[in-house]
Amino acid sequence: MTRYGMLIDTKNCIGCYACRAACQRQNGLDPEIDYIRYEERETGTFPVVHVESVPLQCMHCEDAPCVSICPTGASYITEDGIVRVDENKCIGCRYCMAACPYQVRVHNTKTGAVEKCRFCTVEAYEGRAVTCSCVEACVTGCRIFGDLDDPEGELSRAIVEKNALPISGDLTKAKIFYVR
Ligand code: SF4
Ligand code: SF4
Repeated sequence: MTRYGMLIDTKNCIGCYACRAACQRQNGLDPEIDYIRYEERETGTFPVVHVESVPLQCMHCEDAPCVSICPTGASYITEDGIVRVDENKCIGCRYCMAACPYQVRVHNTKTGAVEKCRFCTVEAYEGRAVTCSCVEACVTGCRIFGDLDDPEGELSRAIVEKNALPISGDLTKAKIFYVR
């Protein structure tokens, strides 16, 4: 089986927003709509304090509260582990936005549907290079996209080598792993 996931190395993230800009271009988003948002988080203890920029986007959770709460089945998980939204089924009730602990869903006022990162799924299904526009755009190479079920793949090896973990532990079985 394929189970798509990602690693984000926040130690190398300089908060330049290149990934967000690439994501907006890729998905034709208006400037006020973001699938990637940033949180500034402090680590360490005074006087040795480090402020890190943490890019947050859909974590493609295995235990996805946005999917279980959706009353129409618009939010669903694909066989390869990507959480998607079928905009034809979405009624814009926004229950999923309230249920997502990472606050990474956005309401598109033009379509009335709720949207979010979909790991650039269209390109993957069309058989082109399986990667994400945010990964390609990252100027410091801190993003790795790949198959979590391939133990020899670059992603799985990097997760082990860098001891990367989901941002909120086991909360939702997220498929984005962070180095912090
Ligand atoms: Fe759903 Fe939020 Fe998890 Fe994405 S991060 S799958 S929107 S609960
Ligand atoms: Fe489902 Fe759309 Fe409602 Fe979200 S806004 S819970 S995707 S119907």
